[in-house]
Amino acid sequence: MTHYYACGSVECVTIDCKLTHRPRGYAMAPNLSEEHEIFRRSVASFVASEITPNAHQWEKDGEVPREIFAKMGALGYLGVRISEEYGGAGLDFQYTAILLQEMMRCGSVGVPVAIMAHAEFATKVVERCGSKALGERFVARAVKGELVGSLGVTEPGAGSDVAAIRTNAVRDGDDYVINGSKVFITNGTISDYVTTAVRTSGEGYGGISLIVVPTDTPGLTRKRLKKIAIHSSDTAELHFDDVRVPAENLVGEEGVGFTYIMQGFEGERLVLALIACSQMKLMLEGAREWGHDRKAFGKPLLGFQVWQHRLADAMTNVAAAEALTEKAIDLYVRGEPANSEISMAKLFATEMARHVAHECAQIYGGMVLMDETPMARLYRDVMGFTIGAGTSETMRGIIAKSNGLTG
Ligand SMILES: Cc1cc2nc3c(=O)[nH]c(=O)nc-3n(C[C@H](O)[C@H](O)[C@H](O)COP(=O)(O)OP(=O)(O)OC[C@H]3O[C@@H](n4cnc5c(N)ncnc54)[C@H](O)[C@@H]3O)c2cc1C
Repeated sequence: MTHYYACGSVECVTIDCKLTHRPRGYAMAPNLSEEHEIFRRSVASFVASEITPNAHQWEKDGEVPREIFAKMGALGYLGVRISEEYGGAGLDFQYTAILLQEMMRCGSVGVPVAIMAHAEFATKVVERCGSKALGERFVARAVKGELVGSLGVTEPGAGSDVAAIRTNAVRDGDDYVINGSKVFITNGTISDYVTTAVRTSGEGYGGISLIVVPTDTPGLTRKRLKKIAIHSSDTAELHFDDVRVPAENLVGEEGVGFTYIMQGFEGERLVLALIACSQMKLMLEGAREWGHDRKAFGKPLLGFQVWQHRLADAMTNVAAAEALTEKAIDLYVRGEPANSEISMAKLFATEMARHVAHECAQIYGGMVLMDETPMARLYRDVMGFTIGAGTSETMRGIIAKSNGLTG
């Protein structure tokens, strides 16, 4: 289902040129084709008309509305990496990267987070590892935006240590009966299904399986959590109390769930690296504009060398983060081992986003404390980047292990 070219008219392209230009100081991504650029213009047009004007309201609502999933599904944006068998476009991660970069322009990171949690985190793993029946029941409808998905791995007692999860699924005839709880689940209250990590046997990673749980199943209760940031994305805790689902909802093989989750983390970490790069650019664009407009002691803030240098350093770090991320994406798309590079990209880009956020917030002075300013939102939202999809400490552990740095 490829409908991206609907916006490739001369009129749309003219409008989109303004939206897709790269500010001075940032390199063009290498190895992107004309096809990629057409896709970029199409997404940019959609974001400008359907997302950006509404993002502020969605921040207040605490969720992305269902209609946006349906609209994105109709345009083929939710199935970019999903196989054509289930109505997707069967494209590679470069297209996901473009989709994400353009969505980030709306200035409300919760929107791309919600879309990625649905399409990339909750659904891709079911398509990649699950049965054809699961693909038809969940993936095909997720691609159309008829169903919204979430991925439930983290628990109150198990975050970084995924192998410590306790939510258990006991086989009972043709069903599994699930008991336990999950926390920090993106799309948790708005989703129709949760791709859920459960313990089907024993201890450690070998006893973990993935099961798709429809959220209208009796015994599953959900509660939205109140966050200090990323407001347009719904985050929830889930409780499973004798939740009975058909055994055919098992994704792939029993006991292989940990491997499926770890494989999926590669894409998720690239998503976070890309989000961090885009967020830094948005902040720097804001800081540059402010630095030209705001005057102190008779001249613009950017008339002081200290601010020229601080923003020059920040811009250099963004370029480095982008280069690492592009390298990791390139390896990932070519199917080469990329775990170390992906972890480096996620680590560097998200840590750097915190630093760049600090620099860009500082030049705003007291204005950055005002809730309604876009910079305030960008500043507080970066906090989650070094935590979601694996913390910075987890990334360092992977890099150390992959490069012979463990004793
Ligand atoms: C906005 C947001 C959205 C999220 N969405 C989802 C979702 O959709 N689905 C989902 O399943 N989860 C989701 N999460 C959860 C996320 O994956 C976890 O928060 C993350 O894995 C960390 O787990 P934790 O919060 O329990 O922290 P912990 O694992 O308790 O870690 C606490 C601190 O200890 C450090 N630490 C842990 N182990 C070590 C170690 N071995 N050495 C040194 N330091 C260590 C960590 O790095 C961290 O700094 C989301 C989180 C956020 C913030």
